Amino acid sequence: METHDITVIGGGLVGSALALGLAEAGQRVLVLDGEDLARRASRANFGLVWVSGKGLGAPDYARWSFESARLWPGFARDLEARSGVSLALDQPGGYSFALSPQELDGIVTDMTRITEETGGDGAPWRLVPRAELEREIPGIGPDVAGAVHGSADGHLNALRLFHALHRAGAAAGVTYRARHTVSHIEPGAESFRLRGDWGEITTPRVVLAAGTATEALAPMVGLAAPLKHSRGQIVVTERVSGRLPFLSAIIRQTDEGSVMIGDSDEGDTEALSGNPEIAALLGARAIRVYPALARLNVVRSWTGFRVKPRDGIPIYGQSTSCPGAYVVLCHSGVTLAAQHALRIAPQIAAGAAQIGPSAFSSARFHVPA
Ligand SMILES: Cc1cc2nc3c(=O)[nH]c(=O)nc-3n(C[C@H](O)[C@H](O)[C@H](O)COP(=O)(O)OP(=O)(O)OC[C@H]3O[C@@H](n4cnc5c(N)ncnc54)[C@H](O)[C@@H]3O)c2cc1C
Repeated sequence: METHDITVIGGGLVGSALALGLAEAGQRVLVLDGEDLARRASRANFGLVWVSGKGLGAPDYARWSFESARLWPGFARDLEARSGVSLALDQPGGYSFALSPQELDGIVTDMTRITEETGGDGAPWRLVPRAELEREIPGIGPDVAGAVHGSADGHLNALRLFHALHRAGAAAGVTYRARHTVSHIEPGAESFRLRGDWGEITTPRVVLAAGTATEALAPMVGLAAPLKHSRGQIVVTERVSGRLPFLSAIIRQTDEGSVMIGDSDEGDTEALSGNPEIAALLGARAIRVYPALARLNVVRSWTGFRVKPRDGIPIYGQSTSCPGAYVVLCHSGVTLAAQHALRIAPQIAAGAAQIGPSAFSSARFHVPA
């Protein structure tokens, strides 16, 4: 019999950032997580703290991502101090490269729209014509027509972020239970009964942060979290001592020297094993952007399933039919980890009806046909 104020279902990047923030807000937190080999987007991602291009047609999402990027330096310092784990956060700004004038026009049109929709509150960016790009990135490929540079973009070591959140959570008093997959949630008058093949517990409040499994859990507490199927694949090269002179959403060098190349989007497969044809396409595009990459050996490749809301916008909210049940789900759990720990968790701790911007409410999916 354990006494906790709140139970977080899911110990991925989203659940562990929330658990840390909830513990910091004075809550006694229990995290129930899945099996060791569970599919976790948190172990498969590209490690970007990325803002550029996010929130087209959804200005709250654009602002939310930008604010997270600004929270990151302080959040990283604090997390490193608490966990003793270096995150290698670097926010030098990032390039979105275009391989044709048409592609460049498309990127600029989208970025201009985001700036207009946010009324200027979005992340700063600038167009980098081909001639300028040659000066900024010596060795840029001849096929690159130009780029957009977003000054808020950055990256970090995502596996160490995951480790740091768990370590800092444990130090803050979070109780973590692996191999505790929750199969049923039964709402009661004043508590929720959570069951699995490990047994059952009751909890006064519950947060659904189980990644792609949230879609099936949400209706048990009157919430909706419809997802879009999306598999991403990443290719990784051997480590090199020199530094790549740029960061982009498709090519980045880790602090340990490897070059990561991504990132694809397949909607029609459940398979975990990578597709060599996709790896070849990713590699070919990366070499067109920066031909020197052709000299590197690929040492591994992996796939991961995104936690992608159907409309691409985070889903945050408290159930109206089962008060005390919350959902937190998003497509960019690395980028938004700072928001989740510093903004969302205190709002859940305080019992707020809507957490985060109201445009992110799960109620948007309850529109009668
Ligand atoms: C290829 C790829 C590249 C990406 N690149 C980036 C990037 O560059 N930047 C960025 O910000 N984001 C990126 N993402 C997205 C990011 O990785 C995810 O948003 C984030 O990891 C989601 O975390 P999560 O905790 O919601 O889900 P997960 O990591 O999937 O974790 C869910 C957890 O819930 C547990 N669980 C599942 N079901 C249950 C249950 N019934 N009971 C108890 N526990 C359960 C699982 O065991 C797991 O630990 C990328 C994703 C992919 C796939």
